[in-house]
Amino acid sequence: MVILELIEKTSALAEGDTITIPLHSPDEADLAAAWCARTGNTLIAADHTSVTIRRGRPADPISDLPADRRPGARLWLYTNFDCNLACDYCCARSSPKAERRALGVDRVREIAKAAPAAGVREILLTGGEPFILPDLGQIVADCTAALPTTLLTNGMLFRGHRLQTLQAMPRDRLTLQISLDSATADLHDAHRGKGTWAKAVAGIHTALDEGFIVRVAATLTTDDRSEENELRSFLDSLGIPQRHQVVRPLARQGAADSGLELTVETLIPEVTITAEGVYWHPVGADNDEQLVTRDIFPLDSAIALVQEQFRAHRATADAAARTFPCA
Ligand code: SF4
Repeated sequence: MVILELIEKTSALAEGDTITIPLHSPDEADLAAAWCARTGNTLIAADHTSVTIRRGRPADPISDLPADRRPGARLWLYTNFDCNLACDYCCARSSPKAERRALGVDRVREIAKAAPAAGVREILLTGGEPFILPDLGQIVADCTAALPTTLLTNGMLFRGHRLQTLQAMPRDRLTLQISLDSATADLHDAHRGKGTWAKAVAGIHTALDEGFIVRVAATLTTDDRSEENELRSFLDSLGIPQRHQVVRPLARQGAADSGLELTVETLIPEVTITAEGVYWHPVGADNDEQLVTRDIFPLDSAIALVQEQFRAHRATADAAARTFPCA
């Protein structure tokens, strides 16, 4: 059904024009993406309700992306890598036993100062678990002074001096992203450890009560769509708006032995900095194949290198599509 609509509506478009088509089921987004790849049209955006398609291939794969999704618009910083948990699918292989590989306050400050001029619009801080760092408050202060910032956490450490650290953080330029995988404890605890679901839910309540913007991110480890529906209903009941509910499938990276295969050829980059260097995407920050350069500075040059490699990958893919058409 959606394919017929795609053929009919895109054939009426001029080359380069775009159209948004409503979807009737989540599977239709996958069908539309496959159709675009086969026919040489460009999928610009897709969600559960609609797809936006451009007729023909993009002249520049970066300018065709939404501004906030262009490589470098969102800058990820891995603050440390060690974690109080050892989730069995962690893409960074974080755990209490993982060696701390800290970016450190001074390097984060230098990155944050350079970020606006390098085209960054948002900084995202991820751990392991950032709240085990003694200097997290300063790191967050430096990042929020430069740009809107999102801080990822498992939400389990909001007590004692760490609660005080949380309470001292700014509310206006900071979003807390807390991980919660399911509406009940079973699935979440199966991958993250017994008792972790209840502590994460308590953390969400604490963050909301403290007046923070809270986004909840779930990793789905099952194809059972009822799990996602139940989770979304649960998040609705907690007062998390739909736009702050992030549900993504498991990626086969790091400690995960199943899930989506994500490579530099298939992933739109989101520039990611660790203590080791600059990586293609946060899901690949423990994967040497996704290391772009060990030189973090100058930051604008590092971001430009990722963009250059992205254009090269897309050009290769387009050339292959012309040489080996699928239909
Ligand atoms: S998934 Fe998050 S909470 Fe779990 S081990 Fe990795 S960094 Fe820690």
